[in-house]
Amino acid sequence: MEAIQEFIANILPLLRLGAIVLGAYAVLLWAASVLWAYRDIRRRTEDVSVQVLAVGIVLLLPFLGIPLHLILRPPQTLAEKYERTLEEEFLRRDLEDQLVCPECQRPIESDFIICPHCHTRLRRHCDTCGRVIDLTWRICPYCGSSQTRGVATRAESHPVVPPVGVSKQ
Ligand SMILES: [Zn+2]
Ligand SMILES: [Zn+2]
Repeated sequence: MEAIQEFIANILPLLRLGAIVLGAYAVLLWAASVLWAYRDIRRRTEDVSVQVLAVGIVLLLPFLGIPLHLILRPPQTLAEKYERTLEEEFLRRDLEDQLVCPECQRPIESDFIICPHCHTRLRRHCDTCGRVIDLTWRICPYCGSSQTRGVATRAESHPVVPPVGVSKQ
């Protein structure tokens, strides 16, 4: 009987020490979770009231606050949001930069001379150097030769309509 009492008396300080270590670990974990929540919410919103609320939840509800924070926090970080906006901007600009046929509105390339869909004349080749130039130009900007053929023929074939949709830059 005495042996058991002695054993308990010996093990009690050990148990107490273990409890202290565990407690300290829990407090550290809780402090770390608050710090993490603070950093996390700052990456997701600039709204101070939302930041205070998020940190407050994790601070006042040790451990239980973390899952709550994960559910309630804004799904995207500010960097992700910024990236998404940039991507959308590029997509929009790509669409705007796309040349379309002035007649049928279908996509064309900048060096097409005839629309492949409706056969509208879009541009023509220079008489001298052969480069693709605008139907309305009377002089070739590449070789400087004056243009007679295009100006004469376009009147009877098709109305001259320059491609639309050129980007605003
Ligand atoms: Zn067309
Ligand atoms: Zn030319």
